[in-house]
Amino acid sequence: MGEKLLIAGNWKMHKTPTETVEYFKEFLPLVNEVNNVEVLICPPFIDIPAAVKTTEGSNIQIGAQNCYFEKEGAFTGEISPVMLKAAGCKYVILGHSERRHIFGESNELINKKVISALEEGLKVILCVGETLEERESGLTFTVIESQLRLGLSGVENFLDRIEIAYEPVWAIGTGVAAKPEDAEEVHKFIYQILNELNSNQAGNIRVLYGGSVKPSNAEAILSQPHIKGVLVGGASLKPNDFAQIVKIGAKLAEVK
Ligand code: PEP
Repeated sequence: MGEKLLIAGNWKMHKTPTETVEYFKEFLPLVNEVNNVEVLICPPFIDIPAAVKTTEGSNIQIGAQNCYFEKEGAFTGEISPVMLKAAGCKYVILGHSERRHIFGESNELINKKVISALEEGLKVILCVGETLEERESGLTFTVIESQLRLGLSGVENFLDRIEIAYEPVWAIGTGVAAKPEDAEEVHKFIYQILNELNSNQAGNIRVLYGGSVKPSNAEAILSQPHIKGVLVGGASLKPNDFAQIVKIGAKLAEVK
């Protein structure tokens, strides 16, 4: 495996450019000694220039929460991977459950976005996860497998630029995280599928856990052997909370 843990924050639709600058003023000094984990923050599009500028020269990377698959054109309201790259983004989150369930994104659309983002040289965090109904119907593994296979169709040789986030929909924004051992079981299964897709590259992919991660549960989650990072929503909005999670990752990185 060998890769550093990835501690990623998803701000969703929160913060203005001014609030972004204030956030990093507080956050950067809290984590400036940490260099053994990778730290990524994905703010709203409008905040990306401020985030990139304010974090220049630090270990913090900036990413986006979504993009469209075309490079440019008559697609009102959309942002392309070319634009994200030019703005200084290193990563883009694709297939987040809010994109799937609020905005109706299909696996096929998400796959087009994955291909396009990779073509532009962005790294991708592909989110997968089952709803409560799917879990209760015993469909967790079926859903995860099809989201992975369809989302990664055609990019099996580029898995070295992809990370996966396992985010059970019922755990996102609810305050109720998956039990670490339940998440671990799904992470193991995800590695199994990735291995079937590309056995040479699967070991280098980081499978992150997301869903109500906070300072109080981050250690138990990150201690699981197949959990290689976290994608944090609510708790990434508070510099102090997110810094604590980064530091927990840094402490565990010594032993993982
Ligand atoms: C997310 O937005 O990806 C997420 C996991 O949110 P939260 O941490 O708030 O559950």
